[in-house]
Amino acid sequence: MSGQNSSSDRLSACLDLASEAFVGVNADQQISACNHAAERLFGVTAKLALGQPLGWLQPHNPDAMPSLVKLVTQPDMAGSPMHKCRAEDGRTQDLSVRCATLADGGAMLCFAPGPVASQNQGIEEREAHINSVLATVPDAMIEIDTAGVIQAFSTAAERLFGFRREDIVGQNISKLMPEPYRTHHDRYLEHYLATGERRIIGIGRVVVGQRADLSTFPMELTVGEVHTGSKHFFIGFVRDITERQEVRKRLQELQSELIHMSRITTLGEMASTLAHEINQPLSAIANYLQGAQKLIADGDSEALPRAADALGRATRQTLRLGEIIRNMRGVAARGEVGRQNVEVASMIEEACALALVGAASQSVRVSFEIAADLPPVHANAIQIQQVLLNLVRNAMDAMEATSPKQMNVAAQLLSPDRVIISVSDTGPGLDPDASDHLFQSFFTTKPGGLGVGLSISRTIVEAHGGRIFFTPLTPQGAKFSFTLPLPSKVDDAAARSRHDP
Ligand code: ADP
Repeated sequence: MSGQNSSSDRLSACLDLASEAFVGVNADQQISACNHAAERLFGVTAKLALGQPLGWLQPHNPDAMPSLVKLVTQPDMAGSPMHKCRAEDGRTQDLSVRCATLADGGAMLCFAPGPVASQNQGIEEREAHINSVLATVPDAMIEIDTAGVIQAFSTAAERLFGFRREDIVGQNISKLMPEPYRTHHDRYLEHYLATGERRIIGIGRVVVGQRADLSTFPMELTVGEVHTGSKHFFIGFVRDITERQEVRKRLQELQSELIHMSRITTLGEMASTLAHEINQPLSAIANYLQGAQKLIADGDSEALPRAADALGRATRQTLRLGEIIRNMRGVAARGEVGRQNVEVASMIEEACALALVGAASQSVRVSFEIAADLPPVHANAIQIQQVLLNLVRNAMDAMEATSPKQMNVAAQLLSPDRVIISVSDTGPGLDPDASDHLFQSFFTTKPGGLGVGLSISRTIVEAHGGRIFFTPLTPQGAKFSFTLPLPSKVDDAAARSRHDP
């Protein structure tokens, strides 16, 4: 190896013994040293190389060296273990290069045969690799940064949402969700980044997605969080569950709740009927007792068996009444089970997502108007979701043959102690005569209808201390609304409804 001054001669001699190629550069990026291995590698002599710019070593590959110069001049990159560049010595050879900066502003580069590629090629290859993953991954996959800006969008996501990758990358992820989730999403993300409190990340949930044509569909969303170096981002996997088996299971669950509730409804209706008719057995008991009293008072010993018989009947009636009252108490107690404070927006979202299952072909557009910062309601979430499910399904049934198909689900504070939730549609609406029977059991205008949905909904809502009602819409459509009391008022409301006639 030849050096520029005698102080480096000893080092040069050592480096000449090395099998790896060493090239030194000074602060001006001129070659200041070149060992034997480097001479062989680049097909040059050290004598000619000294004083030349670094790029001179690769006349056939001039692009490679500028990245090396950058490598040398950027202190944070210098000394990092393996940077790759491509060299040429008659035939193309792939090299790795390590670099150490020197105190005088120069640097020592060490080249060794290594795996393929310049830095740019590495990036291109990684991109090609990521793109092939994005093209083949079966689920829709979306990557966002911490500001919610979409960084990657898989081919399946393009199909699912109807957006082209080049149109959606760089946009906010909230573009893929309907209002009000769209407006609130940035806040959710900020909240998570500030507090670490998870709502979806690492958990997975059923939510409503919105396509490019603004139609909505139920989807299951799983979000993972990734930290690489200084980068922090989120990857979401989305599955369209419009037709999914698991959702059917969940619907079955709700269905069994429906059966349970229909029993409660029947019993509830029976209870009110019995409450009216309870006087009948009571007066029968009174009659038996009076009769028995009279027979005994007459002192006729032959009449005694009849008196005993009357007393026996009275006793049986009394026991039966006691049994009925105990049953009614049991039913009422079961109705209260499972109530807790539930967040309105997510309860609505899940119910609507489930209700939209199977609705893809109908291309119903769903909009949500959920007042911000609604306090939680005190409710059995599954029962209220059952009500929502009934109302949403009815709205979709109603719009089957009409156009446009626009459904709106709204929730807001009605008064300081009550929330009102409503489902409106652009269907044909209802005959004003029919609206009188709407909430009665077995009223239906559908060929395959059961006519129990609305009556069960009424039972559920009223058991929660709320009210359900219908409002016609102009020019056409129906709106079903129900109220729910807020937690602190539940006891008062229940007490009031007990005293209502
Ligand atoms: P079902 O859906 O089995 O008929 P429901 O009790 O849910 O039972 O509904 C009773 C009836 O109320 C329906 O058959 C229909 O006539 C009417 N109805 C309910 N919701 C709507 C709506 N959104 N638009 C028009 N009619 C409705």
